[in-house]
Amino acid sequence: LTQLYAPLHFLGFVYREIKHSLADMERMFGLLDAGAEVDDAPAAIPLATREASVRFEHVDFGYDANRKILHDVSFEIPAGHTVAVVGASGAGKSTLARLLFRFYDVTAGTIRINGTDIRALTQDSLRRHIGIVPQDTVLFNDSIYYNIAYGAPDASRDAVIDAARSAHIHAFVSSLPDGYDTAVGERGLKLSGGEKQRVAIARTILKNPPILIFDEATSALDSHTEKAIQRELAEISANRTTLIIAHRLSTVVHAHEILVMEGGRIIERGTHAALLSRNGRYAQMWALQQEGDSAVTQASEQV
Ligand code: ATP
Repeated sequence: LTQLYAPLHFLGFVYREIKHSLADMERMFGLLDAGAEVDDAPAAIPLATREASVRFEHVDFGYDANRKILHDVSFEIPAGHTVAVVGASGAGKSTLARLLFRFYDVTAGTIRINGTDIRALTQDSLRRHIGIVPQDTVLFNDSIYYNIAYGAPDASRDAVIDAARSAHIHAFVSSLPDGYDTAVGERGLKLSGGEKQRVAIARTILKNPPILIFDEATSALDSHTEKAIQRELAEISANRTTLIIAHRLSTVVHAHEILVMEGGRIIERGTHAALLSRNGRYAQMWALQQEGDSAVTQASEQV
């Protein structure tokens, strides 16, 4: 019996570990709520590109059949460009990111990468091409080294440290008594919101994806950290096709195009300057934000 029990016990342990890490991954992305399954098409092809243009064409979507969330959403992010989405909480901003990552399939319309419908691509290859910097990064109860290298297990120690340098977290990590071996997470050192987002940025630099989704933290960071994170975002998004889900207008000023969403529809679009001169919803949000340092989501809710 003991002979039988040992492997079963081990299997149970592995199963729990797998379940645990899957749950952590889901939380890590911070985008997956329900996690509906989508399947690879029988003839799905792998995506293999360093330059990706993303196009949403007349996309409709609802999590439930009887409640439409997105209505006829069309926009394009040419390769290497940055598009930012702003709008009140619940407007559908994160839903765009979930659809691009293909957690769900569109109800109508098409999402294309370099002209190919993403439903014709293998999910694995699609997701390898997309890096997500979520608003709240989940740290594993492990070393800070493991937390940065997570997702790029083949990376060399030099590459991990280079990524940490580029994410401007190397000096902080080096200052800790145990350096990269410092235990973090719930049972270790607690990192601040800005430090956690830098860990996520370092992970993304290691993954080196052509497409980047940046889900800006809603919770206020101190203005020094916020400016630093924005600078780091500008560095990693240069030459990458970037979708920013923004909560602060200061983050979107330099985007090639800004989409203003309301009730699942794009109600205004353009550059910061063009939207200001249009004197519509974006201009109102901007004026409100100038008055206080409030987040865009709060500002747009007051409009
Ligand atoms: P926030 O700024 O608060 O993150 P958002 O603009 O990103 O908001 P979404 O998360 O895209 O908004 O949500 C759009 C709508 O879809 C909301 O009404 C929300 O309640 C609904 N929704 C989001 N996720 C699900 C889900 N898994 N199942 C059902 N409805 C959902």
